[in-house]
Amino acid sequence: SNAQPLTELSADQLAAFRQEQQAAYETLKSSGLKLDLTRGKPSAQQLDLSNGLLQLPTSYVDAAGTDTRNYGGLQGIAQLREIFAELLWVEPEQVVAGGNSSLTMMRDTLYYLMLSGGVDSPRPWAQEEKVRFICPVPGYDRHHTLLESLGIEMLTVPMQADGPDADAVAALVADDPTIKGIWIVPTYSNPAGAVCSQEVAAKLASMPTAAPDFKIFWDNAYAFHHLTQDEAKSADVLSLASAAGHPNRPIMFASTSKITFAGAGVGFLAASVEQVKWYLGHLGKGSIGPDKINQLRHAEFFGDADGVRKHMRGHRDIIAPKFAEVQRILRQRLGGKGVATWTDPIGGYFVSLDVIPGTASRVVQLAKDAGIALTPAGASYPYGNDPDDTNIRLAPTFPVAEEVTAAMEAVATCVLLAAAEKLAG
Ligand code: PMP
Repeated sequence: SNAQPLTELSADQLAAFRQEQQAAYETLKSSGLKLDLTRGKPSAQQLDLSNGLLQLPTSYVDAAGTDTRNYGGLQGIAQLREIFAELLWVEPEQVVAGGNSSLTMMRDTLYYLMLSGGVDSPRPWAQEEKVRFICPVPGYDRHHTLLESLGIEMLTVPMQADGPDADAVAALVADDPTIKGIWIVPTYSNPAGAVCSQEVAAKLASMPTAAPDFKIFWDNAYAFHHLTQDEAKSADVLSLASAAGHPNRPIMFASTSKITFAGAGVGFLAASVEQVKWYLGHLGKGSIGPDKINQLRHAEFFGDADGVRKHMRGHRDIIAPKFAEVQRILRQRLGGKGVATWTDPIGGYFVSLDVIPGTASRVVQLAKDAGIALTPAGASYPYGNDPDDTNIRLAPTFPVAEEVTAAMEAVATCVLLAAAEKLAG
């Protein structure tokens, strides 16, 4: 039957199934598709939601009376910091509004830690014999490549539905002073769609660490990117850490890259006031101030925190149907066959697909040969190495709806063929 697990097929049935899938794949290949499910980018329709920015600001003087055309204001304009402080559950003085990329702020923070050490470091990290980080997997490839570029070794823990496996993390950091940090995407994680619970966040914020300057890089890139009415609230990690006596442990990041324009938004960093001072002290060596005109433009465009929330519902209306289509096709084509499991996220930009161990790279290759670009297998793991060769990241926001349908039908065909090959093999 249609929904019979492949493992229950007889050898003859499996051979027939494999032939069917091979034929379907040949048809797919000859249809000359050219589709891309690789990067988590907003679609043109989503970008259009923010075209009002192109007519702003109406004035170049901000609410505090500052002429935004000139140098200065390293921390970013208060008017915009106030809006995002409310959204991120922190105080405006804990927030830095920066340039167009939060990833750049994360990189700078790591560089400062390496070259100079943090507010609570005995010495610069680069002077340690070894520096290691914990990376929940699957995770965001750019976090991994940044750490790798600095020679920071990566250890992995599983990313679970409620965040990183906190017991595994606590066990690792308890008596290993070389472990200096962990990278977490707490809300609608890339790519698993996991939401870090208050309990997990509290554990990470309070656990004893052998390193006195252990950092949580709390990358809340998808904090407001809800796909349903069930809007996850990010755990308040700064308050939790502060209450536990580790006020400088978390450094929070966010940006409007997937709220307004992905190349012309505003990045944010939030931390204890002391740590913000530390960050600005280093930043000030290389900048006299950020692009305050873009910041004012964003503040005018949103008006207040509710303006951001309302704007995000516009995104949801555009991308939720694409995510529903991914689910429909996966369910219809792969459901009950015992060849894959996948996430059904309530926010963020990705669906994480786990195929039969040992077949993810084969699926990606088959798709590529048929004209469908998928994120390389293993991309969500440090060093690009998924030890089980099982995980594939799907990013359905950028293509138009018909392309999502065609691409996902193709992915399903590739998953079934790779599974049939493997089981027959
Ligand atoms: N963090 C995560 C988890 C992301 O998925 C992305 C975008 N792909 C970024 C950071 C990049 O953010 P920004 O554009 O602000 O540099």
